[in-house]
Amino acid sequence: MALKFKNLGPRTQVALCQLPLALIVIVIAVMTPFAWPSLVGSPLYLAGIAIHVILFLACFLTPWERLRRSAYLVIPILDLLAIGILRNGAAPLLSGLAILVIFPVIWLAASGMLIRTSLVLSALGPLLIMLPSLAGRFPNLTAADITSLILFPLMMLAVAFAIRFASVNMRVQQRQLQAMGEELRELLAASRERERLLTTILDATDVGIVAVDSNGDQLLANNMMRRLQQIATPADGAANEDQHLVFAHDKVTPLPPDKRPIRRAIEGESFADYLVWIGEGPQQRAVSTAARPLMDDGGRLTGAVVVFSDVTGLVEAIAANEELVSNVSHEFRSPLNSILGNIDLVLEDSEGLSDLAVQRLEVVQRNSERLLALVADLTLEASSALKVHPKRTDISGLVETSIGSAQAQAERSAVALVAHVPSPLWAYADPLRIGQALDNLVSNAIKYSPDGGTVTISAAGTETWVKLVVQDTGMGMAPEDAAKVFRRFFRAESARNAAIPGAGLGLSITKTILERHGGAIACASDLGGGSTFTMTLPVESGGRV
Ligand code: ADP
Repeated sequence: MALKFKNLGPRTQVALCQLPLALIVIVIAVMTPFAWPSLVGSPLYLAGIAIHVILFLACFLTPWERLRRSAYLVIPILDLLAIGILRNGAAPLLSGLAILVIFPVIWLAASGMLIRTSLVLSALGPLLIMLPSLAGRFPNLTAADITSLILFPLMMLAVAFAIRFASVNMRVQQRQLQAMGEELRELLAASRERERLLTTILDATDVGIVAVDSNGDQLLANNMMRRLQQIATPADGAANEDQHLVFAHDKVTPLPPDKRPIRRAIEGESFADYLVWIGEGPQQRAVSTAARPLMDDGGRLTGAVVVFSDVTGLVEAIAANEELVSNVSHEFRSPLNSILGNIDLVLEDSEGLSDLAVQRLEVVQRNSERLLALVADLTLEASSALKVHPKRTDISGLVETSIGSAQAQAERSAVALVAHVPSPLWAYADPLRIGQALDNLVSNAIKYSPDGGTVTISAAGTETWVKLVVQDTGMGMAPEDAAKVFRRFFRAESARNAAIPGAGLGLSITKTILERHGGAIACASDLGGGSTFTMTLPVESGGRV
């Protein structure tokens, strides 16, 4: 409202301020011949009305825009004069017309200009208006006359003060509001700027990012996400997320709704490296997904942010690599078996051979056996379908077998093998695979104890899990290497420096075997202080450690 008034031209503004008074005077003028016919003959009264009309016209006709802003206060000041003439022309019949001074008094006080003059006029105007009629009755003044002579100007002065305070207050509030408005505008501009920056950053990344509310409805998505969503949308354009083309590892089985990344995320799950396939045909992409829940201040779940990274190239490269390794290993096996078979035959019938030739053939035999073991490891590693068939198995029996087969290697390396395993000790395990894992750990423990020492196998169990520990007193490795030993092809610096042969595959296979059982494996080691490998297995089917 205040803004609209400010937008009006100065003439309209002044005329609007004068309008209420002008309207009342016009109404009184129109009523005069009927209500107070005697006043038609009062020249003073008629002059008062005429001055009001002239003043109202002057509001429109004066070029206020060319004058100083305070110039228009001449109108309320002249109003005081006009009301004085009108009221004294109408007295004693309409002496109440004096109350009209309230209009110019309000105008003067609210203008905020010529403050002192306005306040003086607010009291002096009414006083001068009241004086003539009282002067006529002088000296026979009543107490009421004197009271009204003092009270009326004082009342108008009080009105002027009240309006003045109110308008000062209003102006302060207006200024505060303006400052707040300015601050809000700046905040809005800054937040728009931040939003633009965020959108630019999100669109510049080559991972799809989407934020959803707790119903799974999208709050924000970057360009890459929109591209992935297009690929995931079926040909019929179904927008429902449950109908999107999202497949499991085999690329063809649609993922059930509760296994889809966004659904898992809005259920409050936090995950990473969750691989799914989206889309069909040549467009199909492998996507590694990760999610974090969004919480409000009260810790309630309000949605989630889900990140989709396109890893198709990587997945295809790994698959090609595995296929190559698997093919090459397969091709290696037949000639190696043939070499080993023939060496066996020659060694069985070695009468005509010199000792040196037998020794050399035995070296060939050992190395061929190592090569065959390596090929077996490679084949196993390359096959992502390492199968386990767990059943109720006595772990103490497996330990015994493992110690038996490692005995010869231990003797050669001057390593003592010790076992502390309660018998029987039941776990839910595939005896073949867990035997293989145990053999791996025991043979490593001996291999990496080049100066001899002791390898201790101990075991303990609870109702839910069994722990199997292989500890050696060998060369050990730096703790940062111990954290990496389960990676494929990783070899610790200590092993490489000591030129102990190996391919860095055994432990990665061991870890896969344990994980397929729902178990786990951990390594603790110190350079020069020996190593401890701990395998944990569930006791019951479906158990997890
Ligand atoms: P490989 O023994 O054929 O190199 P593994 O996967 O069995 O492969 O082991 C990976 C690496 O872990 C080894 O190269 C070695 O550096 C380290 N390692 C494994 N077992 C031990 C151990 N008992 N003591 C010290 N280092 C070990």
